[in-house]
Amino acid sequence: TGCLYLVPTPIGNLDDLSVRAVKTLQQVALIAAEDTRNTQKLLNHFQIPTKQISFHEHNTQQRLPQLVALLQSGQDIAQVSDAGMPSISDPGKELVQACVAAKIPVIPLPGPNAALTALIASGLSPQPFYFYGFLPRKKSDLQQTLNFLAQLTTTFILYESPYRIQQTIAHLQTVLGSQRPIVLARELTKIHEAFLRGSLAEVQAYFHDHAPRGEYVLLVAGKSGPAVVTWSASQVLAQVHTEIAA
Ligand code: SAM
Repeated sequence: TGCLYLVPTPIGNLDDLSVRAVKTLQQVALIAAEDTRNTQKLLNHFQIPTKQISFHEHNTQQRLPQLVALLQSGQDIAQVSDAGMPSISDPGKELVQACVAAKIPVIPLPGPNAALTALIASGLSPQPFYFYGFLPRKKSDLQQTLNFLAQLTTTFILYESPYRIQQTIAHLQTVLGSQRPIVLARELTKIHEAFLRGSLAEVQAYFHDHAPRGEYVLLVAGKSGPAVVTWSASQVLAQVHTEIAA
């Protein structure tokens, strides 16, 4: 049988595609991509001629038997998402589960991931941490999730779009209070990379005169306990204002 390779792709800076990732994408028979047009740009940049097939949340059930059959016939397949690690707030897990069930080897490559990249520079306690990803949209699910997150004593990590970041900060304040330290990691690995550190109230105030732009990872300190940072939120925010202005 063939192997399923899970290949992380850059979250902004193309130089972050590893040498092994390039070799793997070149050597496999087929690349299963979340968005083939998006991935084609990456393949063109690295002059990788490998053929693609789309694999995303809307065609998962149809694609799974096709991809498993190809793997069983001896073809190697690489799976990629639009950015970062497949399966992490992205398509992937169903294919991995199907391969595990069919005893097809699954070979993960290490590489770019927004959550861990943000965490290591956040200044928040990095261990233990809890990764959540995108908050649910449905009101009742959202409330339940927020109540759950409010109990955590560890740093937790959310993904958010620029359109919803202010609303999410407001939701967090209603359950966590205004003083909880948070860090926003914006546009990681890109030209406008910046870290915004402060209390929930301070970060909310920052957005009153700065429109949110780009992609964000939102990291929240756990509730009082050993995992909580000791720096003064307002000092750190001041430092970051200049960073953002620079
Ligand atoms: N699979 C990806 C990973 O491993 O990080 C995550 C994909 S998820 C659909 C996209 C979200 O990841 C964005 O809404 C944002 O929260 C976060 N993200 C991705 N790239 C980012 C970047 N360059 N800077 C900040 N956040 C980023």
